[in-house]
Amino acid sequence: MHDDMRIRVGVSGALGRMGRTTCEAIAEDPELILAAAIDAAFGEGEASRAGREPCFASLEDALGVCDLQVVVDFTTPAAVRENVLICVRRRVPVVVGTTGLTPVDLADIEREVAVHNVPVMVAPNFAMGAVLMMRFARQAAEHFRACEIVELHHDRKLDAPSGTSRLTRLCIDEAWREAGFEKEIPIHSVRLPGLVAHQEVIFGGLGETLTIRHDSLSRESFMPGVLLAVKRVRDLQGLVVGLENIL
Ligand code: NAP
Repeated sequence: MHDDMRIRVGVSGALGRMGRTTCEAIAEDPELILAAAIDAAFGEGEASRAGREPCFASLEDALGVCDLQVVVDFTTPAAVRENVLICVRRRVPVVVGTTGLTPVDLADIEREVAVHNVPVMVAPNFAMGAVLMMRFARQAAEHFRACEIVELHHDRKLDAPSGTSRLTRLCIDEAWREAGFEKEIPIHSVRLPGLVAHQEVIFGGLGETLTIRHDSLSRESFMPGVLLAVKRVRDLQGLVVGLENIL
């Protein structure tokens, strides 16, 4: 594909676990150009793993010189809100993989998105199996009235409970509210070395339980969803939460 046709993408959090895998996936995709790698940890003369793209310690600097068409954010719960707002104010569409955004953060982002008329896609989980897990959980909620969620992640994850577990709880809550029923859904968070990203949604009924389990065994599991979101985000309107909206 001619360079003019390829989407110029910046990756924020490029030196992190997800950022590195995302940089590699974008660099290998013929429809995309990895136009900037951004990470607070970039020092003078440092290069990202993919190698040739310009590297920046500041998102503002990258946006100033790289003519980015989409920014992907895999930073930290503390940095993500401000990063998204910086992009939105410059009218650059954003794909947000970072978790930890609160409902208040999302409301702030939605307001700015409306003012600047630029799309933002937030997906707490880009794995296809996780999207299906949430869909199946919603379906099961129509038949069960008790549920608990166990989410298990590597021990360096900064936020708890995970964004996926909170989105799953929202799906089940919605199904229950539609049925005129309300009940708290506890979330249990496990953080251990050796884990990547896993979740069990356990429903209890009369003399039976139903467990829906998803396991991300490597960070590659998120890449098809990330690449799809990068290619689709510019066609979206406003703030969109959840990968299922573009599948
Ligand atoms: P990580 O390894 O800690 O990487 C985060 C990177 O962002 C670090 O290199 C960090 O630098 C950098 N950073 C921090 N503040 C920054 C800023 N203002 N601008 C630019 N870079 C900044 O974390 P990770 O494991 O890759 O996870 C990243 C996020 O993705 C987490 O919220 C995680 O829950 C989420 N996640 C989402 C999915 C999904 O499917 N949506 C899947 C897996 C993980 P320093 O180390 O110097 O702070």
